[in-house]
Amino acid sequence: MKASIGGYARAESVPHALSLLGEADGVGRILAGGQSLIAALNLGVSAGDMLVDITGIETLRGATLDGDRLVIGALTRHGDIARDPLIAEHAPLLAAAAPLIAHDAIRNRGTIGGSLAHADPAAEYPACVLALDATLVLEGPAGRREVAAEDFFLGLFETARADEEILTAILIPCARPGDRHVIREAARRAGDYALAGLAVVRREGRHRIGAFGLDDRPVLCAGAMAKWDAGDVDGMIAALAKDIDPPSDTQASASYRRHLAGVLLRRIAAELGEAQ
Ligand SMILES: Cc1cc2nc3c(=O)[nH]c(=O)nc-3n(C[C@H](O)[C@H](O)[C@H](O)COP(=O)(O)OP(=O)(O)OC[C@H]3O[C@@H](n4cnc5c(N)ncnc54)[C@H](O)[C@@H]3O)c2cc1C
Repeated sequence: MKASIGGYARAESVPHALSLLGEADGVGRILAGGQSLIAALNLGVSAGDMLVDITGIETLRGATLDGDRLVIGALTRHGDIARDPLIAEHAPLLAAAAPLIAHDAIRNRGTIGGSLAHADPAAEYPACVLALDATLVLEGPAGRREVAAEDFFLGLFETARADEEILTAILIPCARPGDRHVIREAARRAGDYALAGLAVVRREGRHRIGAFGLDDRPVLCAGAMAKWDAGDVDGMIAALAKDIDPPSDTQASASYRRHLAGVLLRRIAAELGEAQ
């Protein structure tokens, strides 16, 4: 099926993109890497959208340091996240997550902003930004606002971003010496969306766990985190099973996904020297 769109415009700057979205009268749709949007349009999930192409806005691309925070532009592609030495040093979780996403062709076009705005519950980055305690920067007609990752993901493909807002950057507390970042997932084949996955950040004896493929949204696993911080590894696995509400579908049942989550968490704890 061919996509049915209402129009296309290429934005030269964030203010220009915002004005194009405003003129689109509620049917404006941001086009970044196109790796989820174009597939959805081809499937006829929506029609008549006015596409606002932001890929030419160079200021939204790449990573920089701002004090003790890493700033990643929303248009930074998965391939660049995997290769950028600044990201490898200050947010190794994202550098480890990027190669798990799909295949080279998709990683060469897909962007971190697109992935977070799309909010697929099986995607890697949303769980990573929860584990990293990141902040998302949104710019809209009323100005700029910052939203904690914890408050951003509201449901299945649903976020706190208003239709007329653009996700412009992700702010991440830089990794400190001694921090550990680990991401592990179970997928049928390399490059497939994960059946279950966990992203973990350990800092000064405290743990943050982001889960993907295990609910209708990425989940910060508060119950398991509390047990882990208390050194109760068995309690942490039991708590994880309650933190998540996995779907059953043609790929796997909810109980199998829950089992996988426990196996992954125990393996990560063992890798960090905190379980056998
Ligand atoms: C075959 C295949 C396999 C895949 N496998 C995986 C996988 O294993 N793991 C994974 O995480 N992803 C996977 N993906 C998705 C891929 O990571 C996409 O790149 C990503 O979901 C969307 O990023 P994009 O830049 O392509 O966004 P687009 O497709 O351009 O946009 C996606 C949505 O986000 C909105 N949007 C985009 N950028 C912004 C912004 N800056 N501000 C506000 N809204 C914005 C768009 O309007 C649209 O609604 C796969 C995709 C394909 C085609």
